[in-house]
Order: sequence, then structure tokens, then C-alpha cells
Amino acid sequence: MPLTDGHRSVSQRRTTWVRLGRTGISTFDGVTIDELTFDPEALREKYRLERDKRVRADGNEQYVEVSGDFSNFVDDPYIDAAIEREPLTDDTDVIVIGGGFGGLLAGARLRDRGVTSVRLIEKGGDFGGTWYWNRYPGAMCDVESYVYLPLLEELDYVPTEKYVHAAEILAHSRAIGEHYDLYDNACFQTEVTAMRWADDEQRWIVSTNRGDEMRAKFVAMANGPLHRPKLPGIDGINDFAGHTFHTSRWDYAYTGGGPDGGLTGLAGKRVGIIGTGATAVQCVPHLAEGADELFVFQRTPSSIDIRDNRPTDPEWAASLAPGWQTERMQNFNALVSGQPQPVDLVDDGWTDIIGKLLFRIQQAGADADLSPDGLGRAMELADFEKMEEIRLRAQEIVDDPRTAESLKPWYRQFCKRPCFHDDYLDAYNRPNVTLVDTDGRGIDRITADGIIANGTEYPLDCIVFATGFEVGTDYSRRAGYEVTGRLGETLTEKWADGMETLHGIHSHGFPNLFIMSPGQAGFTVSFPHLLGEQATHIAHIVDHALASGATTVEVTPDAEQEWVRTVIEKSRSTLPFLESCTPGYYNNEGQPQKRAAQNSTYGGGSIEYFQILADWRDTGTLPGLHVTGATQQRIR
Ligand code: NDP
Repeated sequence: MPLTDGHRSVSQRRTTWVRLGRTGISTFDGVTIDELTFDPEALREKYRLERDKRVRADGNEQYVEVSGDFSNFVDDPYIDAAIEREPLTDDTDVIVIGGGFGGLLAGARLRDRGVTSVRLIEKGGDFGGTWYWNRYPGAMCDVESYVYLPLLEELDYVPTEKYVHAAEILAHSRAIGEHYDLYDNACFQTEVTAMRWADDEQRWIVSTNRGDEMRAKFVAMANGPLHRPKLPGIDGINDFAGHTFHTSRWDYAYTGGGPDGGLTGLAGKRVGIIGTGATAVQCVPHLAEGADELFVFQRTPSSIDIRDNRPTDPEWAASLAPGWQTERMQNFNALVSGQPQPVDLVDDGWTDIIGKLLFRIQQAGADADLSPDGLGRAMELADFEKMEEIRLRAQEIVDDPRTAESLKPWYRQFCKRPCFHDDYLDAYNRPNVTLVDTDGRGIDRITADGIIANGTEYPLDCIVFATGFEVGTDYSRRAGYEVTGRLGETLTEKWADGMETLHGIHSHGFPNLFIMSPGQAGFTVSFPHLLGEQATHIAHIVDHALASGATTVEVTPDAEQEWVRTVIEKSRSTLPFLESCTPGYYNNEGQPQKRAAQNSTYGGGSIEYFQILADWRDTGTLPGLHVTGATQQRIR
């Protein structure tokens, strides 16, 4: 099998890099390096200054919830007609909440295990989750599609591009639903409003906005980590007389065009977009093309690396041997987790930074300091180097030097989601596009006519909110429903001082409930990878419970506390990094101390976490789980 996707080999890329490398040997903090073109101390100071400008006392509170006056921001623009059906009170073995990749993977793995009584509940009109909602022009996957799209081999499918566009990902979601018969019993356009454990029935009772009171032996919550849009709590946000929408509910009726662009409805219009995160980066080039004038309101610039998208090479696709996707996912995950690999199969911007790190260590040879501190310093150096490259890229592409300067990000690459795009920076060379950089302050206020930033009013016909999704708020608020457990306690009450789980999946007092989320679990750059591992784990437990006749499976307080301790202990290694970062959702908007250690992802990393889950399953028992009602011991 070819090592890469047939376009550029790893050794070619590394060779180019080595050739570009500077000559002469010096040392910095004990790391042997070749001569630097930047001053690490000065960069540290610059990063600190830029961070301090942005830290706000109100942290997550700066955003407003999309409810009440703002609830129209989450209406579904993609359904033709509301589904009519009678309320349901039936009994299902497993209810899965959410029809995105998490829910689909849970459904698929349950089917693989022979579990037939499964229902997916989804608030959208179809499967797809993130990819159902995010249809903004230019939306495409950010992680290589051969790694990111789940179940490719199972569906015998190879995506058409290295980074496929949203419509293809949505179609793949539907294909998974078809392949695993998950449409059969699914409820779309249905929002869960509450869930309560009925101990007398040994069932979860799931209430919805359609009057349902469904019963289920088990529930898996695959709500998604980034699905509840957030809006900036800015003065006057209700005053604007023009048109507004959030990127995750793109209003094509207003803009015209479609996911591939052609926004003809914006001709003659002055459009403002607030936010310059991964979403804005993808849609700005299309807005720039469609609108008469586009104003991009920036608080913090994103890091924009090369995308280099390309069609899939059919010969390469035909050459793929069984097991190729798992191998590729594991290789990518290892590299972005900092584990050296003999080959870089994906070979893109995500793995590039790790390549630079390994190159530095290689250069140091026998003198390399492989202690955690030494590796940390080498990593920081590689990061500086990478970000210098990113800043240089902005300078080289953007004609106006002032705009180019404003587009340079001053923080370590993984403080914010790194972005990759080949047209975003070019958009600022168009005469109709203005970057309104607020130097970390954000916009001042919204008026009936437009936006005030840096004391200047920009009259607008339309404001697009590319302001992202809730992350640091309570789980139940983000889920949109409260969960009441066996002891009458809600999940919000139980987690008031921080998450309490085993493996991020089970919580004591909530029997037969599975949580699919990154909290207290192993985060990876390719989020579906984590969801896939959790889905396999959950299906294993459900199968075991059903096969053994068990009625309840609940984590013991001891096992839970042990895991919480481990998560807190492991998070110590990531805290200094998060504290030094510019605010964003990765570091709880600059307040990483607040419940952060306990609510963090597993600090040992995803590889270790996946191994812990696999070893746990291999025991053949369910260690740490209290099982009632089982009549048989064996695992099916
Ligand atoms: P983000 O949360 O990343 O970005 C929100 C933007 O809004 C930031 O630029 C933020 O600035 C800005 N903002 C917030 N408040 C204000 C204000 N008052 N004034 C001015 N600007 C403001 O949201 P996105 O939707 O861009 O991305 C969310 C996540 O979704 C990504 O991180 C990624 O994980 C995922 N995603 C994935 C994609 C893919 O795989 N293809 C594509 C798009 C998104 P500041 O940075 O200063 O806070």
C-alpha cells in the first residue's frame, strides 16, 4: 500500500523542510538547535501581552444563551414541513440521543453486537448532527476526510477529496443511517426536554417537545460538544433593524446560493461578520464574493495554514487494503499526540508541527533532553517556529501591510483551533473587503443600523454571527434538558463542583446511562475517533447487560472517585499551557482554574485513554460497575 494518498511523500516534504532549515548550531534552554530567526523570550512576552489584552472577568458569561428573544436563531431552516406524529410511550432497549456521528456510531456498534431495539432521537430533520446544521458556504472537514469520516470501510466508501465538503459528509451520515437500519425507529424533529430514571420500572423515561414519554432500558447521550450556538452579549444586539443569522443556521433564502457559494442575494448589500474562528475562515471567501461590501469584525486572528485540498487519487483508493482506515486513524492520532511514527500517512498541517518537533530532537542527537521538561521546551520551540511560518504566510499573501499585521496570531498553535485555508487570506486583497480589527476588545455595540467597533459605526444590511458554540457552560444547559437520576438528584446538581464520572461515560446515581463527550475522556484532533471508541465501549456494556439479563449497570462511588482523582492528577501537566494561552473555548475563555482540572479531558491523552478502555473490556468483567438482576455471568 502506498504510504500517503499518492501525491507527496513524507520524505519529500521533510527534505524540503531540511533544505529550508538554517545553518549554524546554537542552544536555547538546553535544546540544541540551529540558528533561530526569532527571539524566543521576546515571543513569550508578546504572547503574554496579547493574552492579557483579551482576558475578561466575565469569561463565559460574556455570551448570551440562544433562548427567549434569541430563540429564532436556532430555528431549523432546512426542513420543508414539520413531521406530524402521535406522542410515543413505548419501550426500547436503547435510546440514543443525537443523530450526529456520536449517535450514528453508537447505533452502528449496537447493531454490530446484534442489539435490535434501538431508537435514535434527533432534533434536526435528518441524521448528520454538526453536518446537518453547518451548511454555511464553504463548509468542509478540517481533518483529513479519510481519517475523519467514520465507518468508511464498513460502507466501502472513499471520500472524493482529501478534505470533503459538507454536503458529502451529510450524505455519508445518511448512508450510515441506511446501512445500519437506524432510520427504522428514529424520531426526527424531536427534542428531548427531560429524562428521569424510574426506579420502580427500572427504565429511563425520556420526555420530548412532542409530548413523548418514551421508556428505555439504556440511554446513550450523544448530544455533541459544539452544537448550541452562542451569541455575544453585546449592548444593542436586539436593536439591529437589518437581517441576522448564526452560521449554523445559514439563511440561503436571504443570501441566495448554496454551500458551494454563489451568494447572489447579497449583491448590493453591506454585510458584517462577527468572529474569525474556523467557521468564519471557511465562509468569508464566499461572503466576499457575494456581498457588495464585507466587513470582518475580528477580536483574535486565527492561525491559517495551508489547506492544499485535492481530489482523491482513484488508483490510491483502489489500492487500499482491508484495515486501512483504522491504521490511518491510529497513525494520525499517534502523530498529533506527539508519538513518533515510522511514517506520516496523512502528512498535512496537523502532523507538520509534530514533524518539526521530531526534526528538532533528531538534530539534537545524543544530546537531546528527553525529559518531560526538555521535550516541553523542544515543543515550545517547534511551536514558535510553526507560528512564525503562519505569520509569515499572512504577510506574504495579504497586500496591505496593516491588514496583514492584524491577521497575525500571537499565541501557541494549540491555544485555539488551528485553521487551514487557501483562499481566506486572499479575500482581504479584494477591494470590497475590510478587516475591522478590534485589537482584542471585540465590537463595542450593535445599533439599529449596524456595528460600532473602535468607536466607528459601520452601517450594515446584514450581520452574520460566526461566534461559535457554547462549551464551558453546564452540561444540561448545553444538552437542552435535565437528567434526574436514581437518587432524585439532577446531573447539574451532581456536577455542580465538577464532573464526576468513570471514563467520562458513567456517573454514579445514573444507572444505565452513557455519556458520549470529551469531558474526562481522551480528546483527539479527530473527534469522531473518540466517539467511535466510546461507541464500541458502550455497545460492549449494553450487550453484556442484555446477554446476562442484567437490569441495571451503575458505576460504584469508589470507581468514580478513583477516575476523578486520576483526571485531576493528569490534568496538572496541561494546566500551565492552558493558563498561558489566549482566551478561547480550549481554556474556558481564559479561566482554566475554574473547575478546569476536573472537567478537563484525560491528561494522559487519547492513546492512553483508548488503551484503558480496551484493557477494561478485555477483563471480561465490568470492573467498577455494580450490576443488578444478572442471571448469567458470561459476556456474549
Ligand atoms: P469559535 O468559537 O472558534 O469562534 C468564535 C469567534 O467569534 C472567535 O473569533 C471569537 O473571537 C469571535 N467573537 C466572540 N465574541 C466576539 C465579540 N464580542 N466581538 C468580536 N468577535 C467575537 O467558533 P467557530 O464556529 O468558528 O468554530 C467552532 C469550532 O467548530 C471550531 O473550533 C472547530 O472545532 C469546529 N469547526 C470545525 C470545522 C471543520 O472541521 N471543518 C469548521 C468550522 C468549525 P475570540 O477568538 O477573540 O474569542
